Amino acid sequence: MSKLSTDNPKAAQKRHKCPKCGKEYIGYPALSREDNKTEICPRCGLNEALFFYAEDLNGRTCNSWFKEE
Ligand SMILES: [Zn+2]
Repeated sequence: MSKLSTDNPKAAQKRHKCPKCGKEYIGYPALSREDNKTEICPRCGLNEALFFYAEDLNGRTCNSWFKEE
């Protein structure tokens, strides 16, 4: 059993340029959460995910505070 289940080895090694940070990266792009279609590098994808998560969390916290008062 030496066959690994890789979806698409060629796509995984493709070069992309991240429009967000301008850096080149190799591999699968991450989808920007800003418009759900811009392909960005995994690092920016992670940054966006954390940023949006934090914003979402803050919004909910604020709302719940307002509701309680
Ligand atoms: Zn980037």
